[in-house]
Amino acid sequence: MDFDFTPEDEAFRAEVRDFLKRHLPKTQTPEALAEWQKQVRAKRWVGFAWPKEVGGGGGTLSQQVILKEEMAKAKAPALGTCFMGLAWVGPSIIEYGSEAQKQKFIPDILDGRYQWCTGYSEPGSGSDLAALSTRATRDGDEYVVNGQKIWTTIAMWSQWMILLVRTDPSTESKHEGITCLLVPMDTPGITVRPIKNMSGGSIFAEVFFDNVRVPVENRLGEEGQGWRVTVSALAHERSSIAEVAGLQRSLEELEALARKTRKNGRPATQDRGVRRRIARADARVEAMRLNGLRFLTKQLKGEAVGPETSVNKLQRAALEIELGELALEVQGAAGVLDREAAPEKGKWQRMALSWPEVVIGGGTPNIQRNIIAERILGLPKDP
Ligand SMILES: Cc1cc2nc3c(=O)[nH]c(=O)nc-3n(C[C@H](O)[C@H](O)[C@H](O)COP(=O)(O)OP(=O)(O)OC[C@H]3O[C@@H](n4cnc5c(N)ncnc54)[C@H](O)[C@@H]3O)c2cc1C
Repeated sequence: MDFDFTPEDEAFRAEVRDFLKRHLPKTQTPEALAEWQKQVRAKRWVGFAWPKEVGGGGGTLSQQVILKEEMAKAKAPALGTCFMGLAWVGPSIIEYGSEAQKQKFIPDILDGRYQWCTGYSEPGSGSDLAALSTRATRDGDEYVVNGQKIWTTIAMWSQWMILLVRTDPSTESKHEGITCLLVPMDTPGITVRPIKNMSGGSIFAEVFFDNVRVPVENRLGEEGQGWRVTVSALAHERSSIAEVAGLQRSLEELEALARKTRKNGRPATQDRGVRRRIARADARVEAMRLNGLRFLTKQLKGEAVGPETSVNKLQRAALEIELGELALEVQGAAGVLDREAAPEKGKWQRMALSWPEVVIGGGTPNIQRNIIAERILGLPKDP
C-alpha cells in the first residue's frame, strides 16, 4: 500500500507552506483577516476543488486535502467566510442548479458576500429528516411555504437559507415529494427566534414560515427531487478528511496543556491515566487519518464515497467529547472555572460544552451506527 502523495502534490504542499510562511496573519484584526481573504481568493484557494468555469480553483481532490491539512496545521483562518455556502450549499448548486442559479449564487459564496443557513430539521423530524412536514404549495410562479424549522445554525445572521419542504404529501415513500428551495431570509412571513444553548450563547434558532412566497426559479433541482439534493449535500458535510489535521492540532495542544499542568505534584503528562488516554486518542486520530486516505483513494479512482464516511463522523464525535473531557480533567479543580478565570481563557471549557455541534449536527452517533450496521456491515434492519 502506498501512502505517499505524488511529486506534483508534494510540490503543491511546498507552495502552500511557503505561502503560509509569508502571508499567515500575525494578528486577528478585521483588517488582517480581510487582507488574508483577499489573498487566498486571488490564489483561487476558496472553492479550490470547484470547477474553474464557476470561479473555483479547479484543483484536484488530493491537493484540496493537502491545502486543508496545511491550513489546519498552521492554524490559518478559514478559506472564505461563507461557511455553509462553501461546505454544502455551493456544491449542491454546482451539482443541481440551473446556469442562472450558478451565476447568481456561486460568485457571492466565493467572495463571502453573505451567509447561508440550512433549514432541514423540524421539531418532529431530526434524525428521521424525511418525515419533514413544512409544506409548500404551488401558486402560479411561486411556492407558498408554511411550517417550522428548528436548530437552524446562524439563521439570525444569514441572508439566504437552503430549505427543504414537502410539495407532495401523497407519495408512497416519505423520501419522495420533498423539494429544495433557496430562500432569501428577508422574505415577508419568516420569523427567526434564537435558541440559547448550554454554554449561554445563541448560535441556532427556530424559524417560522407563515405564507412565505418563494419564486419557482429559486427551486434547486426538480420538484420532488429534494431528497437527492440533500443526500449529496450531507455527503459533502461528512466527507472532509482535513478535520483530522484539526484534531491532531487539538491533541498537540492538549499534550502541551498536560505538560504545563501539575497533577498530584508532578506534570500531568507523568500521570499514567492521562498518558493512556492521550495515547488512545492519538491512535484513534491516526485511524481516522488512514480511513480518510481510504475514502480519498476511492474518490481518486472515480468511485463514489458513500456510507463509509459515517465511520469517521462517529470517530470524530467520540474524539471531540474525549478531548474536551480530558482537558478539564487535566485542569483538575480549575476545570470548573470559565472564560477569563479559566486556564487558557476557557478554551477547553468551550470545547467541552460545544460538542453537540459536532456530535449531533449532521446526524447523531446512533444514526451513524445504524448506517454502518445496515449499509456497510449488511446487518438486518431493526424491525
Ligand atoms: C449545534 C447544532 C447545530 C445544528 N444545526 C442545524 C442546522 O443548521 N440545520 C438543521 O436543519 N439542523 C441542525 N441541527 C439539528 C440536527 O441535525 C438534529 O438535532 C439531529 O439530526 C437530531 O435530530 P433531533 O434533535 O430531532 O433528535 P431525534 O432525532 O429526536 O433523536 C433523539 C435521540 O434518539 C436517537 N435516535 C433517533 N432515531 C433513531 C434510530 N432510528 N435509531 C437509533 N437511535 C435513534 C438519536 O440518536 C438521539 O439520541 C443542529 C443540531 C445541533 C445540536
